[in-house]
Amino acid sequence: MVEHPDINTQVALRDFKYYIFDWDDNILHMPTRIHLEKRQPDGTWRHHSVSTSVFSIVRQDTANYRPLHDDRDAAFIEFQDDAPADDRAGRFVRDTEEAIDRVMSGKEPPGPSFTTFKKTLVEGRLFAIVTARGHASATLRAGVESFIRLVLSPAERQEMLANLRGYRYCYDGVREFGTDDEEIAYYLGLNRYHAVTNPDFKAWMDSRVKGAAPTSEERKQFAIRDFVEHLFHVLERMNGDSFGWRPISIGFSDDDQANVAAVQKYIKEALGSRFPSVKFCVYDTSDPSIENGRKVVVSGQMDLGL
Ligand SMILES: [Mg+2]
Repeated sequence: MVEHPDINTQVALRDFKYYIFDWDDNILHMPTRIHLEKRQPDGTWRHHSVSTSVFSIVRQDTANYRPLHDDRDAAFIEFQDDAPADDRAGRFVRDTEEAIDRVMSGKEPPGPSFTTFKKTLVEGRLFAIVTARGHASATLRAGVESFIRLVLSPAERQEMLANLRGYRYCYDGVREFGTDDEEIAYYLGLNRYHAVTNPDFKAWMDSRVKGAAPTSEERKQFAIRDFVEHLFHVLERMNGDSFGWRPISIGFSDDDQANVAAVQKYIKEALGSRFPSVKFCVYDTSDPSIENGRKVVVSGQMDLGL
């Protein structure tokens, strides 16, 4: 193999480890607000906006909190796109950059999976973002581009590019590379960005799944299954059957315990048997004092091909 300082061919020796990340309060604590009304002592209701982490606590208290104008769309308006999807001026990118700035300047601790997400990017591993937000896929991707630009040091960015070129060299037979930006764009194009309340996501899912209107949890499950299937397509394309000997693991992290429980159940009942060679790890990041969250291995019969 060609020895080149900017192509890390050692990536060919790596394990196959991939991640699915929830975004809010898992990677970043976003400034995005949920607009509610709060009951006042005199019985009237007044506009009251809360963060996602506060919302996760007060959401059950329907006696004292309700959506603004009793309208869910009004309550979650900041979780929708307010600009074209690839427009960096959109609210999601603005909120992402503000959240990153607070982490980088030490004003706020990073989300529990912030470091794992950064490591995933630097190592050039495939990942999916799966969130209950309503943005277009391209909007989430633009947020990831901001993360790469603002969080990675110049040295980490170069390490990432050497890894990305290494994968292309070893698995795709690529010998001539594009610009750094082109290589990052190619990599980001291999990943999945699913905001499961986005209209395009809903239409796409409805075209694939017949039956009753799916719940939000079923939408997340569909997004997760899509990523796992996508991974297998990528692995098959780059490696034929020869990857079979190597363990594949897929991690899922979310700070919402209801989501964590639903995904664990889904892996046990559906994904585990469909992909028996995959080790699925679920990370419950609801307790911010535990870095990387509480790890649960849900399914992991190693198929070593013996
Ligand atoms: Mg979350």
